[in-house]
Amino acid sequence: MPIATVNPANGETLKTYEAMGEEELERRLQLAEATFRTYRTTSFAERARLLNRAAELLDGMQQDIGRVMTTEMGKPVKQARAEAAKCAKAMRWYAEHAEELLADEEPSDFDVKDSGASRVRVHYRPLGPVLAVMPWNFPLWQVVRFAAPALMAGNVGLLKHASNVPQTALFLEDLFHQAGYPEGCFQTLLVGSGAVDEILRDDRVKAATLTGSEPAGRAVASTSGEMIKKTVLELGGSDPYVVMPSADIDRAAQIAVTARVQNNGQSCIAAKRFIVHTDVYDRFAERFVEGMKALRVGDPMEEDTEVGPLSSEQGRTDLEELVDDARRSGAEVLCGGQRPDGPGWYYPPTVLAGITREMRIHREEAFGPVATLYRAADLDEAVLIANDSPFGLSSNVWTRDEAEVDRFVRDLEAGGVFFNGMTASHPAFPFGGVKRSGYGRELAGHGIREFCNITTVWHG
Ligand code: NDP
Repeated sequence: MPIATVNPANGETLKTYEAMGEEELERRLQLAEATFRTYRTTSFAERARLLNRAAELLDGMQQDIGRVMTTEMGKPVKQARAEAAKCAKAMRWYAEHAEELLADEEPSDFDVKDSGASRVRVHYRPLGPVLAVMPWNFPLWQVVRFAAPALMAGNVGLLKHASNVPQTALFLEDLFHQAGYPEGCFQTLLVGSGAVDEILRDDRVKAATLTGSEPAGRAVASTSGEMIKKTVLELGGSDPYVVMPSADIDRAAQIAVTARVQNNGQSCIAAKRFIVHTDVYDRFAERFVEGMKALRVGDPMEEDTEVGPLSSEQGRTDLEELVDDARRSGAEVLCGGQRPDGPGWYYPPTVLAGITREMRIHREEAFGPVATLYRAADLDEAVLIANDSPFGLSSNVWTRDEAEVDRFVRDLEAGGVFFNGMTASHPAFPFGGVKRSGYGRELAGHGIREFCNITTVWHG
């Protein structure tokens, strides 16, 4: 894939970039290693000062970077600005909390005495240069949610961003530079995916984090496994959205629309499979389809656009094939399901019902505004359908019944359960999944400790 900005709203190639050569990569790896030697000794106060400055700069550049993101990957410009604002917020959150999250821990007196020590503490030390392989769907947020904790922990970052968002990738390097970070604290490596393996094998790279597809995750995890390097993987999702009879059905249907089409439907934590109790199925389906049909699809640069184009021609073809496969196997198309004529990689909000286990869309991630509807006879069947997926990122449940809440928390195979609302990430909560959605956690204390050397310090 060339490293280029191609506008998904009209297919026009706006800017192409040469991939960095071996010499430049070597220079950057050397710089990362050298910078880490001193940056690791900086105080939390100094790191927080730098990160707060980056947040302040980002707030001032929201309009510009919003337009760049929309041009590169097609999200509605309002959502792009909101993404920039969320990044600044997360930077401030880590600037404020990192010291407390990484404070030394002391086991209880009893355990200390039992070990024959006079004092024991657990200390969190940085690992070194961490490689971040990142996707285009939230081109700022995916990177910042890695970079903010990594930099506060004293690590330095190497970003290999998706090849279709090079301007956003370069913006990020420039942002940290302008904020006053020492050169080498955060660098963008402008390379294609073929270069990742060699970079990962380099001794100077200590760990890696990847957000993206399963094949990409498998490749990075395999090499990292061979090299015995820590990885965090955040892969796909096909989150269930369960609606039980006690819920506010109209509200559940309204939020379901946003949960499915946010970011033009290209979000790992978007609700994708809507599993509705038979007693409220018809009402929910009617309201949900109404809501999906009413969405404003169009130019993502327009302020009132709710759904823009998919990020690439391939992305649209993949989605279309999932829908066509389901249709051929008997799925009912309640709305959408037909690509429009004209330029741009648009696909209409689509709802499919009558899904069976044989259909690809039941097992694969639909990365676009396509929802599948399932009817469940009772809670047990709802849980069965929800868990009948290779993925386990997050999940959503609508119910007012406390006994049901306990059952879903106990039984859903996912890294999160969000009741009476939709899944969203927040710096204070851990984020990540189980099964083929990956492993490890981002955000919160769990995320910042992933790339630390957890050191036991024992005094006799
Ligand atoms: P990819 O997984 O291919 O891209 C994500 C990142 O991984 C990019 O930086 C990419 O680089 C890199 N990459 C790809 N292959 C390898 C590899 N073998 N070794 C190392 N790095 C690699 O996602 P796509 O854009 O192709 O999207 C395909 C599907 O993946 C989507 O339809 C969706 O299902 C899923 N996806 C999930 C995301 C999530 O948030 N969980 C985000 C994006 C995609 P390059 O761009 O240079 O190829």
